[in-house]
Amino acid sequence: MGVIVAKFGGTSLSCVEQFCKVRDIILSDANRRYVIPSAPGKRYSNDTKITDLLYMCHERARQSLAFDDIFNVIAQRYKEIIEGLDLNLDLEPELNEIKTKIQEGASADYTASRGEYLNGIILAELLGYDFIDAADIILFDSKGAFDSEGTNEAVIQRLQHHERAVIPGFYGSMPDGQIKTFSRGGSDITGAIVARGVNADIYENWTDVSGFMMADPKIVDNPKPIRKITYRELRELAYMGASVLHADSIFPVKKAGIPVHIKNTNAPSDPGTIIVNEAEPVCCTGGITGVAGRKGFTVTAIEKTFLHDELGFGRRLLSIIESNGISFEHMPSGIDTISLVIADSQLDGKLEKVLKEIKEQLKPDSVEVYSNMALIATVGRGMARTPGIAAKLFTALGREGINVRMIDQGSSEINIIVGIENEDMEDAVRAIYHAFVDGDS
Ligand code: ASP
Repeated sequence: MGVIVAKFGGTSLSCVEQFCKVRDIILSDANRRYVIPSAPGKRYSNDTKITDLLYMCHERARQSLAFDDIFNVIAQRYKEIIEGLDLNLDLEPELNEIKTKIQEGASADYTASRGEYLNGIILAELLGYDFIDAADIILFDSKGAFDSEGTNEAVIQRLQHHERAVIPGFYGSMPDGQIKTFSRGGSDITGAIVARGVNADIYENWTDVSGFMMADPKIVDNPKPIRKITYRELRELAYMGASVLHADSIFPVKKAGIPVHIKNTNAPSDPGTIIVNEAEPVCCTGGITGVAGRKGFTVTAIEKTFLHDELGFGRRLLSIIESNGISFEHMPSGIDTISLVIADSQLDGKLEKVLKEIKEQLKPDSVEVYSNMALIATVGRGMARTPGIAAKLFTALGREGINVRMIDQGSSEINIIVGIENEDMEDAVRAIYHAFVDGDS
């Protein structure tokens, strides 16, 4: 029998109707043996996630304020789910204990983690699976850092005795028993850790979208879905802001070579996106896998005659930005030029000082600063071997009258990054998408 680890996000478990969809999905494949739930998420757009309600309770308690009203909303949501599913389950004792602990000053991590904990108990009951408290197997060290190897060992040891189990996402425990959570959205990480521990054939990540799209649907109407993407391509697109799953969550399964399948709980027959290792052949639409953009960069272009002959120029330039606590995104260079692409959030109030130091220490002929820049990454494994990709890309941008200020093609050749004005970003993404997908060049 194969093993599938299936993680379900908050919107997949937000109410009775969603729980029923999840049950049908899990029971439709006997290989779905380990299930990782998030806490109930939003049922409609201005609803509040249980996790957020729990953080609010903690904050009220911290300020010695009453939080009964919020806690009652939480209790009511779980009650509705249990009753709607017709389960013979009483969470009253658990809820009372949690409330008392919050009143007595329990940590924010403990408080927030109870959303997943309670949802896990409900889901296990609904499925007839064993419930395993994540605190027993997801381990952090005494400083709160995730203990990857200790956890892997604990997962292997514990799960070998359980044919089928529900393990709540998002939290684990420190050696003294204190509950510790991952960062927000961290149930993705729990799922990946469990998938690695049980050496799953596949890690399914069930959410409310049918995987990754070739472009942001807020920019391009009905973009095509990406059927298969490599970890590296995903990393490039995720860096640009295309987010469907928690970025760190990829590492445990990537290391183990386990494919991740992003699926839609509300449309389970949609193919979704499979994230695979580099070795697998991947075909992309029109030679690219996706295009994504991110605003808010500043490009500093430094020019100096005979720069390429000047020993240590690059090192001195980088040590200036390092000593100012700034990290850079890209550094395209020419014979007599080096440009630094830096996120505005990094530069915050430091630009003048950095420019002064560059002028004093490096004596360049000129330093130009272009602010309000956006970066567009056109990503695709197929690009490396396909002639004409760059021509198509720049023709598309040229036709839209978009001025390209910077070009950087990573040596891996899986992406071409262009720097343009912030205000051109949406037009540029659309132009590139249509050029490749519709062949409109
Ligand atoms: N419930 C947690 C959050 O809202 C973790 C998760 O959903 O993955 O961030």
